[in-house]
Amino acid sequence: MIHSDLYINGKWVPTSNRHPIHDPSDNSVITEIAVAGDKEIDAAIEAASHAFPAFAKMPARARGEILRKAFEIMISEADELARLVSRENGKVLADAKGEILYAAEFFRWFSEEAVRINGEFRHSPSGDKRILVTHQPVGVSLLITPWNFPAAMATRKIGPAIAAGCTVIVKPAMETPLTTLAIVDILERAGLPAGVVNVITPTPAGPAVSRILADPRVKNLSFTGSTQVGKLLLKQAAERVIRTSMELGGNAPFIVLDDANIDEAVSGAMLAKLRNGGAACTAANRFYVSKKVAKEFTEKLTAAMGKIKMAPGLTEGAQLGASVSIKERDKISDLVDGAVKEGGKVALGGEKPAVVGAFYPPTVMTVDAKNSILKEEIFGPVAVIVTVDSDEEAIQLANDTDYGLISYVYSGSLDRALRVSEAIESGMVAINRGVISDPAAPFGGYKESGLGREGGFDGIHEFLEKKYIGVTI
Ligand code: NAP
Repeated sequence: MIHSDLYINGKWVPTSNRHPIHDPSDNSVITEIAVAGDKEIDAAIEAASHAFPAFAKMPARARGEILRKAFEIMISEADELARLVSRENGKVLADAKGEILYAAEFFRWFSEEAVRINGEFRHSPSGDKRILVTHQPVGVSLLITPWNFPAAMATRKIGPAIAAGCTVIVKPAMETPLTTLAIVDILERAGLPAGVVNVITPTPAGPAVSRILADPRVKNLSFTGSTQVGKLLLKQAAERVIRTSMELGGNAPFIVLDDANIDEAVSGAMLAKLRNGGAACTAANRFYVSKKVAKEFTEKLTAAMGKIKMAPGLTEGAQLGASVSIKERDKISDLVDGAVKEGGKVALGGEKPAVVGAFYPPTVMTVDAKNSILKEEIFGPVAVIVTVDSDEEAIQLANDTDYGLISYVYSGSLDRALRVSEAIESGMVAINRGVISDPAAPFGGYKESGLGREGGFDGIHEFLEKKYIGVTI
């Protein structure tokens, strides 16, 4: 069953205003979802606010067990959930299944973290008191998620919020709200009390989100999406000085040094570039390849990209699906056309196919280091290669961006790769690997890629306030 109503205070809430959700591989309408108006938004804030005191007091073990149960249900229903993700997002079934398994792991990880919220007990250096440090749930949190990982971006926020004892209002991207609604159905079956998680789907997003952020009952904003919208929301959050965590855009460099194993670098590049059709904040966006190996790398990557089967996400054997919408696909196409105008050379792809649906083919191009495409997050299956003369030049070009989420380094020598990793301004570095995302690791960026960390031991602290109690004994 596909849920298409809002979820407020433990109930499915229909509205007469409906919004179509499309399958981007053929533009068909999957369903029409309820659009949240002011009344429903206020009801969601009230529900989360009312549920908070009791939920904050629920024993951590009980909160953890709800998450653990939700993890188990997600795993047992992974195939069905993956089909839903594929339909509303366009990604191929293998990517969608991978996302569901990854998403479920956030529930498992945070079910384990719920019971490990440690405090401190110390003697003050002067000996005049004891220093107690404890943590308390921050309160009602607004969680805003993007369309590219509709399951994982939801569980990466809902998991730690529940583990910490917070209640939430989730606002999924309007292109892909169905997966979030399916996940909430799972949480309900796992025993989550009414009002702890509420889902609203307003459109347009701006006024609804402003209304929530202006409400004094809302204490925290956790946002994943573009840097542009993140900046807007930071300004609004500043009005009430509420807590924020921001997972924003990326522009990942993929550096291949001259001692790298090129076959392994190409396999890693295929993962880093094509996972999720390139629509990942972690996607390799700019390839900086040492002159000595640039020809071999480009030829081998072009050959590998040329074998990719592009087809609707649910097609047997499909490796590259549709972008989430024609609008997003056209952004990719415009970036490639612009890069060609500036002198970029296309080795593969580079043309919109004449088919129904938001498809863009695997594309490889070589450009010089000044090409404007290197400044943009492509969010599609386009590999842009720049030849570099030295490790220093690779580092300098890799850092020549406002973003700093993730970087990839391929080298046959660990100390060389580590030296480059330490010089790169990004929150995450993958050495000789095409994927490093892991619920047990801190995910997040430097510079305009964000504030705070999700996952790992840090993720739960985005939903906790630290309290120091000083006492004479
Ligand atoms: P987006 O346009 O910024 O939208 C993200 C969310 O913000 C959606 O729920 C959207 O709602 C909402 N939104 C849009 N305009 C808003 C406004 N004026 N006020 C309040 N909310 C607003 O991003 P996207 O296109 O969905 O996602 C792609 C971006 O997310 C990329 O830049 C990618 O790098 C980034 N991302 C980052 C991470 C990370 O962990 N760092 C992970 C995944 C994606 P509507 O859909 O209703 O407009």
